[in-house]
Amino acid sequence: MYALSQEVLRTDVSGMPLEWIDYRDAVRLHFMGQVAYSLGQTLFRLRGGTNARTGQRTVFEVNAIVATVGHSHNPGHLHHGYVPPLNNETLFRRDGHLCLYCGQKFPSSQLSRDHVTPLSRGGRDAWNNVVTACRRCNNLKAWRTPEQAKLQLIAIPFTPSYAEYIYLKGRRVLADQMEYLLAHFPRSSPLHKRLSKVSGLQDVQDRAQRRAHD
Ligand SMILES: [Zn+2]
Repeated sequence: MYALSQEVLRTDVSGMPLEWIDYRDAVRLHFMGQVAYSLGQTLFRLRGGTNARTGQRTVFEVNAIVATVGHSHNPGHLHHGYVPPLNNETLFRRDGHLCLYCGQKFPSSQLSRDHVTPLSRGGRDAWNNVVTACRRCNNLKAWRTPEQAKLQLIAIPFTPSYAEYIYLKGRRVLADQMEYLLAHFPRSSPLHKRLSKVSGLQDVQDRAQRRAHD
């Protein structure tokens, strides 16, 4: 079993990823009759009340993915051209915590948001004009464009789709949740390549964690 902090992936009834919820939300949705079906491994087994007739306690299982009916709290992801909010933590995850200039990996505390075309030159504070950069490279580049600073980007910045954004927001995405989200990424998503490499590793980690908790 997992720690109760493990998040559950909520989808709509057609399987479109919607958001991360905690086990309390999952239980609430279940009792409101809004869960259409569940997928993925069992994350938690929660004990309910005792059945007066049989004397047995009800056990309620929460799975890694729950598909829900109803339109309450559905974000506007179904509109084409959805642009997720830009924040540093999600940006750093989009770029795999790599500085897109020197290619080295850093903890969040040593990373910054670099505007490829600087704001002072009309660049926008938008996903396709921002990259993760270490402090050194950001200082080196300063107010210049990469060409002027003789720096080369190792990847092209992109605007995450809704499913990619949900993935990037996940605190700890389990292998079955990741596989599910991957299937909803655009075919051209740069995340496919990176995640297909780690998902094998994640599987091993998940199995090890499950063994440790059994
Ligand atoms: Zn750097």
